[in-house]
Amino acid sequence: MVDFCPDDTPQLKAWRGEVRAFLEAELPGGMTFDYDYDEDEAGWDAYLAFWRKVGAKKWIGLTWPEEFGGLGRSAIERWILQEEFAEYAAPSHPIIGMAVAAGLLRHGTHAQRLRHLPGIASGAVQWGEGYSEPGSGSDLASLTTRAHLDGDHWVLNGQKTLGTAAHRAQWMSVLARTDPEAPGHSAISCFLVPLDAPGIQMLPLHNMADGQQNQTFFDNVRLPADSLLGDVNKAWNQIWFGLGGEALDPPGPSPDPYRYRIVRMLRKVMSYCRETRHRGRPLMEDPVVRLQLAELLEGVEAIRTQYYESYSNAVTGITVGPRPIALNLHQAYYKEFWPRFAQTCMEIVGPMAQIQGGRWACLNGELEHYFRGSVSNHAGGTSQLKRMVLATRGLGLPR
Ligand SMILES: Cc1cc2nc3c(=O)[nH]c(=O)nc-3n(C[C@H](O)[C@H](O)[C@H](O)COP(=O)(O)OP(=O)(O)OC[C@H]3O[C@@H](n4cnc5c(N)ncnc54)[C@H](O)[C@@H]3O)c2cc1C
Repeated sequence: MVDFCPDDTPQLKAWRGEVRAFLEAELPGGMTFDYDYDEDEAGWDAYLAFWRKVGAKKWIGLTWPEEFGGLGRSAIERWILQEEFAEYAAPSHPIIGMAVAAGLLRHGTHAQRLRHLPGIASGAVQWGEGYSEPGSGSDLASLTTRAHLDGDHWVLNGQKTLGTAAHRAQWMSVLARTDPEAPGHSAISCFLVPLDAPGIQMLPLHNMADGQQNQTFFDNVRLPADSLLGDVNKAWNQIWFGLGGEALDPPGPSPDPYRYRIVRMLRKVMSYCRETRHRGRPLMEDPVVRLQLAELLEGVEAIRTQYYESYSNAVTGITVGPRPIALNLHQAYYKEFWPRFAQTCMEIVGPMAQIQGGRWACLNGELEHYFRGSVSNHAGGTSQLKRMVLATRGLGLPR
């Protein structure tokens, strides 16, 4: 296994200890909640309560300026914090709020930052993301939701789909077309929309892994002029491309507890293979299973190494090739490996893996749930699209 430890000073070691002590005390045991793929009131309440405790320590916006609810700490401290959250299997922070925060930090006005960042930093305010539409997923530049100026207000009309956690959110960042004459991506702007504004209706969209995304309808929703984030007609490069190409997060990369789930799942399946006997011997001694586990381990280590590479690039300022290469390579690899990984784990554990609860459920049914979630790797853009960005923006190949 790859071994990498960034905390080589007493201060950083102490910081890691502080994070661990917090998690030991505050992370409810056995909390496996995932906001994309779980949907129950008690789960959501416990999840949000945990993140409000993290927010109370100002650790959500750890690296942001203190003025906006952060602590102004370093990227390496954030890396260590997230590494420990991943190791302790803490549920991921709702990433949409973090993406909005990154957009605000880079493109927001001072007033917008003061208004929105403290709520995200404290864990009090949740955000949804209104980018995809029923006819515009991968081809996002074809979106048809529109906004026009009426006096000093923007008026928003259209429909968004697949909004993760939007039914739990108070705000949504929405991409809309603001110049009916301009083609494709050159006419798109981003708006910060309060979800209790008149004219908004939301309907649930249930996914096959027990979670919920949402359809959101905007009917003549009036937004004050300062709802616009960034420049008018420039959201494609300023906001959206934060997901598709250049990372928007100023303090640099960090390990993602969500993706660390794959490491933890592999550990669980390996223990299962050590403890379970099949035809008189541990499953772990079966040559086919050993081969499958070796392939999984190889993929998991590749993902981990890609994280370390992106971290090292940020710290040293050295990158191999233009930035979209590292980011999109990592995303494309992960998005393709994830369902393959989950499928192979199901094959190793066998038909019993399908049992979700009760005494016969293997790994408490967690693998089965994980498997159902793995086929929804479209969130944030499909691997084919990541490959395309890699080819065009990263390698400069023609479309
Ligand atoms: C769990 C989940 C959560 C999500 N959360 C949000 C959210 O919060 N907010 C939001 O706005 N959206 C969200 N999405 C939507 C997500 O961004 C889209 O699913 C994604 O962009 C793909 O769009 P699509 O589903 O319409 O698939 P399509 O664009 O219809 O693609 C279908 C298939 O065709 C392939 N394809 C399409 N075009 C090309 C091409 N040019 N070259 C090669 N292959 C191509 C795709 O790779 C894919 O395999 C979420 C999706 C999921 C699954």
